Amino acid sequence: MDISYIINELGEEREQYFNAVAPPIIQTSNFAFKKVDDLRRLFEDEYNGYLYSRGLNPTVDILRKKLAALDGAEDCLVFNSGASAIFASVLANVKSGDHIVSVAKPYTWAQKLFNIILPRFGVSTTYIDGTQIENFERAILPNTKIIYLESPNSWSYALQDLKAVAELAKAQGIITICDNSYCTPLYQKPVCMGIDIALQSATKYIGGHSDVVAGVLSGSHEMMAKIFHSEYLTAGNGITPFNAWLLIRGLRTLPVRLQKVTENTKAVVAYLKTHPKVEAVLFPHDESFPQYHLARQQMMGACGLLSFYLKVEKIDEIERFCERLQHILMAVSWGGYESLIIPGCASVPKNAYDASKKTHRMLRLYVGQEEADYIIQDLAQALNNT
Ligand SMILES: *Cc1c(COP(=O)(O)O)cnc(C)c1O
Repeated sequence: MDISYIINELGEEREQYFNAVAPPIIQTSNFAFKKVDDLRRLFEDEYNGYLYSRGLNPTVDILRKKLAALDGAEDCLVFNSGASAIFASVLANVKSGDHIVSVAKPYTWAQKLFNIILPRFGVSTTYIDGTQIENFERAILPNTKIIYLESPNSWSYALQDLKAVAELAKAQGIITICDNSYCTPLYQKPVCMGIDIALQSATKYIGGHSDVVAGVLSGSHEMMAKIFHSEYLTAGNGITPFNAWLLIRGLRTLPVRLQKVTENTKAVVAYLKTHPKVEAVLFPHDESFPQYHLARQQMMGACGLLSFYLKVEKIDEIERFCERLQHILMAVSWGGYESLIIPGCASVPKNAYDASKKTHRMLRLYVGQEEADYIIQDLAQALNNT
């Protein structure tokens, strides 16, 4: 399917709403029926139509059609956060006594789920270095039900060979879930590589304007129906019609925004690599990246997020660098129009800072859509005065 068709037309039925170019926000909690039979049909299976907006909603459905098509998936569900998408995809596929194999250090709130919540219900998790396929083979137990992936990881950018992991899991009847927030479906399509569920935080590039929190799951119609009937309806964590409308609007410009961010990121990586205060730059599509070949093979693009290590001794120098930035904001998240920075040392108690630990000297930069020179000059004035 043509990407322009998906973004501009798919799912939109303008003649049904006065030929308005922008779709309406169907801001309603419930839907009325003329026939008892029609009501009965939805009581039997709410995934078949509009009954109540905790389930399906027409504005949300326009978005679902577009996102599923972008992922090359049969179906998708949209949640009120990426974290609730993670929660639903995992919970729907485990029961007491089951086991999960997860890549090391997935997204923080996936870790909380695996470490704190699931053990209370008898579900255990083994973390592995996902860069080697043999580690998956070794960690799989007879009761393993899920392999949880995040490729690239949003801090270390560690990748997994998605085709190889999917093949291994399929042969043993294990469900694979892959967090694809870094790439978006434009730069990587896990479902097309055999992964059962592709997951992304739509808060990042899909929303794209730092004004909405949302999450997406894509996969087979059967899997999405299963999640809809259990976790989605029970937790009531679907996206609201207004936020769905914001994401439809975000999608209109996703290709151009990614293009701009990709160009900017290239320029920023090249600049940082030459600066004497920068020890190294970590970016999947840079030749120095340890898994560069795999990154080129399975990701159609890489952009926005990168990390670099400052060549400094004292924590004060890192703090001074961050606080000197004039335009790049110090804030969590990424994928919006604005460049952002987070120092690794912010997650270390000040007296535990250790310059010999690279992660303590690490900075994660999100390159936004400002002009590349504007971002580089801001980095330069802060680096040169650190
Ligand atoms: C932000 C993020 C999430 C969680 O998404 P929210 O929308 O913040 O709940 C999950 N995975 C990754 C890699 C993320 O960056």
